[in-house]
Amino acid sequence: MQVVETVKEVRKAVAEARAGGEWIGCVPTMGALHAGHMSLVEDCSERTDFVVVTIFVNPTQFGPNEDLSKYPRPLEDDLEKCREAGVDLVYTPEVPAMYPEGFETYVKLEHLPKRLEGEHRPTHFRGVTTIVTKLFNIVQPDVACFGQKDYQQQTLIRRMVRDLDMPIEIVVCPTVREADGLALSSRNIYLSDDERRSALSLYASLQLAQDRIKAGDTDLTGIRQAMLDLMASHSHVTPDYATIADVDSLESLDSPVPRMVALVAATVGQTRLIDNLVIDIHSRRRTHGA
Ligand code: AMP
Repeated sequence: MQVVETVKEVRKAVAEARAGGEWIGCVPTMGALHAGHMSLVEDCSERTDFVVVTIFVNPTQFGPNEDLSKYPRPLEDDLEKCREAGVDLVYTPEVPAMYPEGFETYVKLEHLPKRLEGEHRPTHFRGVTTIVTKLFNIVQPDVACFGQKDYQQQTLIRRMVRDLDMPIEIVVCPTVREADGLALSSRNIYLSDDERRSALSLYASLQLAQDRIKAGDTDLTGIRQAMLDLMASHSHVTPDYATIADVDSLESLDSPVPRMVALVAATVGQTRLIDNLVIDIHSRRRTHGA
């Protein structure tokens, strides 16, 4: 496995792989890799011949009062996980190389970033779409894998790739959860034992929505309120939003449609967590792990 820090080295390694007829895959991450990230790597390895994992804690997607400086950076552990998974190239750029003096070009979608997460984190998605565009330009992958865990993020990226004709197939992989349902997140390490127990209320509220909708309840306003109440009934949890939305536009729905997505965000202790569940009215199987 090659570990490189410069654009030149990435381009050289990818050019060689491509010259050998290999199909290039990319998994962008901020590191602190867990089984969720590794599921993307596994999926990417099945679809492509040369897998590039990028590890970059991207400052432009953090707000001024967010956890940029304390975000975990266990690089050696991450590299070991990548080695074990058979990754071909890890790209770990430094901040000044990504954002040189005088940097002023951003990629920004018009509407999608303003909803949900964007209301709480106004500059977050501009940072995400800019860094993902840069990584796509550097790696030039055929396929890139993202997690459903960050539902709004993958929606924006798919829209951006379509709108700007980027020749990249975007694959969205199911959310990996702990056995008790908690979605894996690099931020879970901030939670105390007590907060971790309370954090289960996010997934519980999504299941509540799914159960009520599948049972024929059409009162989405009432369901949203019940989701918020359920989260708020747990100590340390301050709900931010609970919504049932169109799977593509993320607009809040008035009444059920065949496929919807329930999304929640809450602060648990000092840690902001998000989760979501796609609800397919006609599928009888309970969606666990998605
Ligand atoms: P991050 O390092 O948080 O920027 O995440 C990198 C990628 O991993 C993103 O595409 C995330 O959606 C994905 N990811 C994070 N957590 C999970 C999870 N629990 N299951 C699946 N994918 C995940």
